[in-house]
Amino acid sequence: MTKSEAIRKDLEKLIINFDNELKSDSLRQKVLALVPCFHALRNLGKSLIPRNVARSARDRLLHYFQKYPYTVIGGDELLVVSGIQEYARRIRELKVQYGWLIVNGITAKEMTEEGEFPFENVDVSKMGPSDYLLLSTVQDRDAAHRWFLANEIRKENLAVRDKILKYFLKNVGKQISGEELRYVAKDRSEWARRVRELRTEFGWPIVTKNTGRPDLNIGIYVLEADRQSPEHDRHIPDTVKRGVLRRDGYKCRKCGWTHDEWNRSDPRHLELHHVKPHVDGGENTEENLLTLCTVCHDDIHRSI
Ligand SMILES: [Zn+2]
Ligand SMILES: [Zn+2]
Repeated sequence: MTKSEAIRKDLEKLIINFDNELKSDSLRQKVLALVPCFHALRNLGKSLIPRNVARSARDRLLHYFQKYPYTVIGGDELLVVSGIQEYARRIRELKVQYGWLIVNGITAKEMTEEGEFPFENVDVSKMGPSDYLLLSTVQDRDAAHRWFLANEIRKENLAVRDKILKYFLKNVGKQISGEELRYVAKDRSEWARRVRELRTEFGWPIVTKNTGRPDLNIGIYVLEADRQSPEHDRHIPDTVKRGVLRRDGYKCRKCGWTHDEWNRSDPRHLELHHVKPHVDGGENTEENLLTLCTVCHDDIHRSI
C-alpha cells in the first residue's frame, strides 16, 4: 500500500467516525473531532509528491510548477500540494532566491494591459492574486543578486519611472522580469505603463517578446543599451515597429547583424531608420522604415 493510500484509509475512518460526533450537542467536540481530518487531508495532499522527489513544501511547489509550466495554477492547488498555508512566501523564495520565473496573476494582468503578455492559451483576465504561472523552465542564477539591488532601489525616494529606469540602467543587456520591475515600483500597478513610456516617450531601447525580441520569454524585459533613440524616432507606433522588424527578419538591412551575434565588446541592437527623413515629411509607415543595427544607423546619420 502506498503512503497516499494509507492516509486516505485513515481519513475515511475519521470521516465515518465523525458521523457520531455530528449528533453531539457540543460544538467544541465537533470541532475537535474535525481537526484530525484536516491534518489527514493535508498529509494526503503532501503525500501526492513522494519524499524522494521533493522533501520540503518549497520543493513540492517547484516540482508542481515544473510539471505544469505555462499553465495557470490556482492558490487552492498550491495549498494542497505544499500542505502549508503560507505557500505564497515559499513561491516568493523560489522567485527571489532561486530565480524561477514565476509570475503572479496581478502582474500578468498589468502586463496584459500594456500588450506585454502575448499568451494565446491563457485567459489572463480570469487570473487572480492567488494564481501563478511558471514562464520558463530555466533557472536564472543571477536573480538573487538583482532582487537585492531591486530592494535597494525600491527604498529610494524617487518617482516610480525614475526607479524603474535606474534599475534598468544597472542591468543593461540583462533579462529582467516584470515581477522585479513591479517590486522596484513598490507594487504600484502603474509600473507596466511607466516601462512603456520609458520605451516610447523617452526612447530607451527596452525590448520584450512583443516589441522587437521574439527570442525572449514572455514576462522578460531587456534594456539593450544605455542610449536613448533620437526624439524624432520615438513616435513610431508599436504595431508599425513590430511589422518592420518582422519584415526585415530582425536583421540589419545593411550588414545583416542579428541579435545572435551580440557580444560584450560589440554591444549593438536594432533600431529603425527613416528612408525619407522625418524632417522632410517622411512618415512612420512600414514602407518608409528600415531595420538597422546601431553601428550602421550611426554611420548613415554621420554621412548624411
Ligand atoms: Zn548593421
Ligand atoms: Zn535614422
